[in-house]
Amino acid sequence: MNYSHWEHDSYFNSVDLTIIGGGIVGLNAAIAARKAQPALKVIVIEKGVVLMGASLRNAGFACFGSPSELIDDLKSRNEEQVFQLVEKRWKGLLALRNLIGDKAMEYEGLGGYELFDSENAFAESREAIAGFNKKVSSITGERETYKVTDDKIKQFGFNGFLHMIENCSEGQLNTGKMIQTLVRKAAEEGVILINGVEVKSFNEETDGVLINTSWQNFKTKHVLFTTNAYTSELLKDVVVKPARAQVLITKPIEGLRLKGAFHYDKGYYYFRNVGQRVLFGGGRNLDFEGETTTQLETTDKIQKALEKMLSEKIIPGHTYEVERRWSGIMGLGDCDKSPVIKSLSKRTHCAVRLGGMGVAIGTLVGQEAAAMVLNQF
Ligand SMILES: Cc1cc2nc3c(=O)[nH]c(=O)nc-3n(C[C@H](O)[C@H](O)[C@H](O)COP(=O)(O)OP(=O)(O)OC[C@H]3O[C@@H](n4cnc5c(N)ncnc54)[C@H](O)[C@@H]3O)c2cc1C
Repeated sequence: MNYSHWEHDSYFNSVDLTIIGGGIVGLNAAIAARKAQPALKVIVIEKGVVLMGASLRNAGFACFGSPSELIDDLKSRNEEQVFQLVEKRWKGLLALRNLIGDKAMEYEGLGGYELFDSENAFAESREAIAGFNKKVSSITGERETYKVTDDKIKQFGFNGFLHMIENCSEGQLNTGKMIQTLVRKAAEEGVILINGVEVKSFNEETDGVLINTSWQNFKTKHVLFTTNAYTSELLKDVVVKPARAQVLITKPIEGLRLKGAFHYDKGYYYFRNVGQRVLFGGGRNLDFEGETTTQLETTDKIQKALEKMLSEKIIPGHTYEVERRWSGIMGLGDCDKSPVIKSLSKRTHCAVRLGGMGVAIGTLVGQEAAAMVLNQF
């Protein structure tokens, strides 16, 4: 099939910037690029019919660091690096809320919580709270961001947890509404959005980059990869390890008492309410090797473990039905948690490796990447 004159002229001729990957980073980069330079022709190519990436498969936690996560991070990175990332997550969430609006993505500031079922694990976090509160007060503006709220364990109806630490500045959002609004905003800015087309390879030439797709080939002046977990399929020199995360959601549960976003076991398990439903994910630590994959499947081993914990600890005494199970793929670094935002050549750039915090930092990462690319025009 040949391009029509109109397709060629309006869509694929003289493309300034092609963004590969239509997740939170790609969409934000596209919006920021067009806002900065409205005359640029910007195309986003996404292989999913809607979006295959983690941006439409996540848990919708708007969080920036639980105590045990920070303690863990401080073992491999210095204080400045750890709290710089906390600040980036906080500012990223503010930027997302500013762009989308709380109402449009049903943002709820219900708080984030970390649960403990061992005295040892809790003791370390409790000791660290005062120092963390000092550190983050200049970020959140709260004197006491973290506090022990054991009394709420009963109130939420949990069983088998001994302690709980609340983060009053965290919240949750509707992931589907967030992406829908981002897509709408990108279209309003004049970004050309192409779904269901996979980029197979690319070739940098003197006057631009040839993009080979599962549909048609075309030339672009610059290309930005926002392919996250799938990056190594196209960019051999950028190491991003795929890490699958499995989730389930229940049907609405009458009398559900928990409200907010909860972490447990260093963040390997996480759950929240979605109205009267419970969304529960995690268990990657039960099979690290098997979960190092880009296959969008679920496994009995992990789903059964999630259901067991749900029945015994999270909603004991409730009968429930699982309405849906799914998985999404995160992109991780070996030990470094920071995203990779860099130019690989004069015309080829990437903004990838968002780990488990892309909802929080994705907006800033996209905006930063757009500024980096526009600097080279
Ligand atoms: C189950 C789960 C729960 C999570 N929960 C949270 C949470 O509560 N809070 C939080 O902050 N973060 C969470 N995350 C992490 C967050 O979702 C990600 O960090 C974020 O969505 C990454 O965004 P992205 O735009 O970089 O990548 P993605 O959203 O993965 O987008 C990359 C896109 O590139 C496309 N693509 C790849 N290769 C090609 C190609 N060759 N051609 C065309 N298109 C291509 C893919 O189809 C994909 O849609 C979670 C992740 C998972 C999986």
